[in-house]
Amino acid sequence: MIVVMQPQAKEEDVKALITRVEEAGCKVHLSVGVGRTVIGVIGDGTIIDARQISRMEGVENVVPISKPYKAASREFHPGDTVFTVGDVAIGGVTIGGNELVMIAGPCSVEGRTHLIELAHACQEAGATILRGGAYKPRTSPYAFQGLQEEGLRYLAEAREATGMPVVTEVLDPALVPLTCQYVDILQIGARNMQNYALLNAVGKSGYPVLLKRSFSGTILEWLMCAEYILSHGNNRVILCERGIRANETETRNTFDLSAIPVIKQLSHLPIVADPSHATGKWEYVGAVARGAVAAGADGLMIEVHPQPDMAWSDGRQSLKPERFAQLVREARLVAQAVGRDVPRPRVRQRVNGQVQM
Ligand code: PEP
Ligand code: MN
Repeated sequence: MIVVMQPQAKEEDVKALITRVEEAGCKVHLSVGVGRTVIGVIGDGTIIDARQISRMEGVENVVPISKPYKAASREFHPGDTVFTVGDVAIGGVTIGGNELVMIAGPCSVEGRTHLIELAHACQEAGATILRGGAYKPRTSPYAFQGLQEEGLRYLAEAREATGMPVVTEVLDPALVPLTCQYVDILQIGARNMQNYALLNAVGKSGYPVLLKRSFSGTILEWLMCAEYILSHGNNRVILCERGIRANETETRNTFDLSAIPVIKQLSHLPIVADPSHATGKWEYVGAVARGAVAAGADGLMIEVHPQPDMAWSDGRQSLKPERFAQLVREARLVAQAVGRDVPRPRVRQRVNGQVQM
């Protein structure tokens, strides 16, 4: 439920309400606006009697939230969630604002020089955030599992070299603190969308989280997973549509375009599209990316590799940097047609600790 306080409510009225809510085992999300305080109650709302709350001192109105997800719902937070990730000293990258985010990089981190050179190429083509898997969730236990901590170190070096924030997948709750030392955004992969121990761990970390939709997850299930993260007070969640399983076999998955406007209606969280994993074939990535931007996505996540044939994973769906540059130019035109924009490539480098723009 949402409790709207009267404009003249006193501080002790707000405190009494918070105590009442916390005693019932629920958490509070406080938003102090101009002249009015609104208290979001997160938890099992059935424990709290809305009529009792509405009779408390200073309370103007109690609004129930009809959805099973609360903190993730638009009812709870009518405005879009917008936040900045990365190094604020060099501007950081705003997610959920008018400008779309362009996340790009290899499926797997393959080596230090390889990653740093590719990070520069992606940035010159228009990437604003670098992606790269250090711990890989492979279907086969015999497939390459990622460079692991060595890969995290290279990601941090690529961030240092380019100034771009970095996102990487985390597979295990025990690895969350280590991963946070190296990257800016923790990715929960499709295979782990409903791994509740992992969702709780990333929620508690307070780090921004990119939550991918699982192959078979409904939008409701996906938002309930976001709710796990938000329930820890971690509001910096980005949803990522990466295709779902249907009976089509020409593409790796089926991109659910309608998930974008549905999420925009049901939730305030930003949503990005991953047409690489959705299609599984590089030649379809651009078209699906443009469709996602037209449908209102807040950004794209694209797999890029200098030699896709030689990639250690997902080469078939990876774009060469020059093709990614073309995708960015086309995405910009579509974004502008729907009142958004894609920033021009900004190459940021540090030389002897100084940021060069
Ligand atoms: C990835 O982004 O590298 C990945 C493994 O994607 P997904 O979890 O969507 O399959
Ligand atoms: Mn991949």
